[in-house]
Amino acid sequence: MIIIDGSEGEGGGQVLRYACALSLLTGEPFTIENIRRGREKPGLMRQHVTAIEAACVIGAAECSGLAVGSNSISFRPGRVTPGDYHFAVGTAGSTGLVLQTILVPLMLADAPSRLVIEGGTHAMAAPPFEFLERTLLPVVNRMGPAVSARLIRHGFFPRGGGRIEVDIAPAPLRPVDCIDRGALRSVQATAIVAGIPFDVADRELKSARKVLADWPDDAFATRQLPADHGPGNALLLEAAFENVTEIISAFGKIGVPAERLAKTAAKRMAGYLACEAFAGPYLQDQLLLPFAIARRGAFTTVKLSQHTLTAAALIDRFTGVGFRTSERSNGATVVEVTKG
Ligand code: AMP
Repeated sequence: MIIIDGSEGEGGGQVLRYACALSLLTGEPFTIENIRRGREKPGLMRQHVTAIEAACVIGAAECSGLAVGSNSISFRPGRVTPGDYHFAVGTAGSTGLVLQTILVPLMLADAPSRLVIEGGTHAMAAPPFEFLERTLLPVVNRMGPAVSARLIRHGFFPRGGGRIEVDIAPAPLRPVDCIDRGALRSVQATAIVAGIPFDVADRELKSARKVLADWPDDAFATRQLPADHGPGNALLLEAAFENVTEIISAFGKIGVPAERLAKTAAKRMAGYLACEAFAGPYLQDQLLLPFAIARRGAFTTVKLSQHTLTAAALIDRFTGVGFRTSERSNGATVVEVTKG
């Protein structure tokens, strides 16, 4: 039984999701205390409960303490069974983070799975759908499995109501090296609005354009969704390189001017473009688990995040697999799997 202090390191929901995935992969039960102690509203939120329930369903796991607001759970994994599953968060809680919990165990199962996940698809502090589809899954697919995702309906904070579908054809994970991102192939800025004034999208693009001044005119596009999909707003900045696509996102929030939100996102994109790293600040923690299971491989990334450091420590506890990091002369950091 592994005992985890959920307040350590990053102290968020990712520790929990990673622990469930690692437990299903290794057969090792765990108890976590002080869940999300580092967050404004500590304890389990609806989306975490759904993610853990999903892990229980696909992995015949038993979990005690599972309720909204709970500060501690004990999780005992069973056998992972692939199949057709439907999970609904019931709020704008992230569909992508439910997927993050069960993806790797299902990628290693002995038959395909099809998932329908309902909740948020474009909300803060979580990967938007396009990030899953175009940033994360292409790397995962290079490792062997064939995972495809479709966005059926957008779901924004606070209403939710989004829906994604995911098909998973499993395969053993083979090591890959993701060192060079290759040449830049295309760039795209998309401002999405649903049920809010259209000029928000225009203002975001204008502001992003000032920072990304060398992006061509036709790279900037607005997209208006049916009003009943909202209210909601997302800005997606996408840079497709030969070997990886980075998507920086920002989500409209009451009280935050569209210009400010877009400028921040554009500066982050400019920062990524200026360095030579493969993985941006979010892809890095999401690659650790598949890379650890493959037991070899390396990727370059931007400055290491707290999420990454915390996930690496947790992976080490469950699997004995570690990561060595080193700085490159071009400012990128190399993260390399070292077997336990
Ligand atoms: P936590 O904050 O512990 O709930 O974990 C959030 C997870 O979502 C981490 O795996 C992050 O890498 C990921 N994430 C957060 N924001 C984004 C974003 N804008 N794009 C992609 N992934 C994100």
